[in-house]
Amino acid sequence: MIRINNIKMPVKHNENDLKKTVFKLYKINENEVKSFEIAGQAIDARKKDNVVFVYAVDISFKFDEETEKKIFENIKNVRKIEKKPYSTEKIENFTETENVKRPIIVGSGPAGIFAGLVLAETGLKPIIIEQGKNVDDREKDVYNFFKTGKLDKYSNVQFGEGGAGTFSDGKLNTNTNNFRIQKVYDELILAGANPRINYMSKPHIGTDKLIEIMRKIRHKIESLGGEYRFSTKLVKVNYEKSDSENNKIKSILVENVQNSDENKIYEIPTNILVLAIGHSARDTFFMLNEENVAMERKAFSVGVRIEHLQSMINYSQYGKFADKLPAAEYKLNVKTSNGRGVYTFCMCPGGVVVPSSSEEGRLVVNGMSYSERDLENANSAILVNVFPKDFPGESVLAGVEFQRRLEEKAFELGGKDYKAPIQLFGDFVNNKISTKLGKVKPSYLAGYKFANLNEIFPQFINDSIKEGITLMNKKIKGFASYDAILSGVESRSSSPVKIPRNERFFSNIEGLMPCGEGAGYAGGIMSAAVDGIKCAEYVIDYFIKNLLS
Ligand code: FAD
Repeated sequence: MIRINNIKMPVKHNENDLKKTVFKLYKINENEVKSFEIAGQAIDARKKDNVVFVYAVDISFKFDEETEKKIFENIKNVRKIEKKPYSTEKIENFTETENVKRPIIVGSGPAGIFAGLVLAETGLKPIIIEQGKNVDDREKDVYNFFKTGKLDKYSNVQFGEGGAGTFSDGKLNTNTNNFRIQKVYDELILAGANPRINYMSKPHIGTDKLIEIMRKIRHKIESLGGEYRFSTKLVKVNYEKSDSENNKIKSILVENVQNSDENKIYEIPTNILVLAIGHSARDTFFMLNEENVAMERKAFSVGVRIEHLQSMINYSQYGKFADKLPAAEYKLNVKTSNGRGVYTFCMCPGGVVVPSSSEEGRLVVNGMSYSERDLENANSAILVNVFPKDFPGESVLAGVEFQRRLEEKAFELGGKDYKAPIQLFGDFVNNKISTKLGKVKPSYLAGYKFANLNEIFPQFINDSIKEGITLMNKKIKGFASYDAILSGVESRSSSPVKIPRNERFFSNIEGLMPCGEGAGYAGGIMSAAVDGIKCAEYVIDYFIKNLLS
C-alpha cells in the first residue's frame, strides 16, 4: 500500500474528482486499484484568494509489492505504508481467586473507558466505578441544570459517563503522534462516529453524537465481561503500608451516592486501581492526599470565554470562500509584556458556552458544539498561565483553592444562581459594567447577568487577558472588537496537580496507577483516551508477570 501526500483540490469538489485527479497525476490505471482511501484532509487558507483542500490518500493495488515498488519508488510525495490493527495479549478464562482480583478503574471519562475497553478485550473483566450516572440519566440532569440552575454535584457537565468530554465539541486533535490514536478512531467509528474523523486534520464529533457513542462503547465493554457501577464513588484506598517501596493496594471503599441506607459504603478487594478521575475530582484529590498518595503542585491556566459572530471568524479565516466552507476554527497564542503566555483553548465553532460547574456555589464556563457546528457564535477560552507561586499557601492542593476562589467570585457576580457574569470586551478594558449588548448575543445556556469580570481575577490576569486579546486582533481582525462577549470563569482547563508514576506506571503505591488528565498525563479527549490504553497495557503486563505467573 502507498500513501500519496499533498494533493491539492479546489474548494468545490467531491471524492470522485479527487480520485480522478490522483489517478491522472500519478498515471494510475483504475482497473489495477484494489482500494482507495482518504487518509488526510486539511484546508489550506494561507492565501485568502486561493483557499484549497489538501489531501493524503492510501492506495493498494491488485499487483504485487515488487511491482508497486518499481513504479512508485522515489516519486515525490509517495511512500510505502503498512497498516496494522491495534492488538494486545489475550488472557483466556480469567476468574478471580483469593489473591488475584479483577482490575478496577475509577472514572468513565475517555481515559477510564479506553483503559476499560482494552482490559475487557484482553479478558480481564474490569470493574469501572463512576460517581456520576449513565449518559441517558446524566443528560437529563445536565439539561435540568441549564434550565433550573439546580446542580447535581455528581451528575453534571464534568461528571458522569463519558467524563468531561461528553458535553463538549468533541474535538479530537492532539499534539501527540501515537499509534494508539488509530485504535481510538476505530472504536469511535464502530460506535457511530462519522468515519471522516479518521482523516480530517481537525476532527470533531459533537455532543449530540458523543452521547450515543458512549452508550455503545459501554455495551461493548459489558459484552466482553466488563462491568460499570454508576453513582458509585471511590471514597478510600486501602493499602498495605510498609517503610520500603512495597506499599501495595489491597482494596477500595466505595459509596453508592444515590443510596441512603447503611450499606451505601462497601469494600471491593483489588490488586489494581486505575485512577482516571479527571481534573475536577477535587474531593478525591483531598482524600488521596490524606492517604499519602504522592502528588505535586503544577502550573495550569485560567481565564474567560470569548464569543464572536462565527461569520466574522469565517471571513477572517477564509476570505471570499467563507460561505463555501465549514465553520472556521482558530488557535492563537501570544506573550504579554508581563511575560505571561495567553492563548485560546477549546475553540468551539458554531457552538455555545456551557455551564460547567461541579461544586455548589462555584461557577465554571466552558464550550460545546453539536456535530453540525451551525450556531451563530464562535467561542473559545482565553487562558493565562498561572504557576504554583501564584497560589495561596504552600499546600499541594493550593491550586484547587486558587481555582475555587475565582469560581466563587464568578458565582457571586452572576447572581448566585449559576447565571454567567458577562461583559463586553470593550467594557472589560474600561473596567465598567456593560449595560447593553452589541451584535454578539451571549449563548450561555443558563442565562446571564452583566458584571465587571475585573473583580474575579488578580490584576496580572486582567492585564494579561486585555493585552492578549488586543494582540490576537493582529491575527484575526475583529477579535478585539468592543462587543465581543466575555464570560467567566474558565478554571478547569487542566489538572491543578500531578500524581507521579514510576517506570511501571504506579504511584508510590504498587497497583495504584494514575491515569489521564487528572493525574497530569493528558490534556483533552484524545490524549486521555491514549493514556487510558497505555495504562491498560501496563496493567496487562503486571497481571502476566506478577499476578498470574
Ligand atoms: P474525565 O473526562 O474528567 O473523567 C473523569 C471521570 O472520573 C468523571 O466522570 C468523574 O465523575 C469520575 N470520578 C472522579 N472522581 C471519582 C471518584 N472518586 N469515584 C468515582 N468516579 C470518579 N477536550 C477535547 O479534547 N476536545 C474538546 O472539544 C473538549 N471540550 C470540552 C468541553 C467541556 C464542556 C469540558 C468540561 C471539557 C472539554 N474537553 C475537551 C476536555 C476533555 O473533556 C478532558 O480533557 C477529558 O475528558 C479528560 O479525560 P479523563 O478521562 O482524564 O477525565
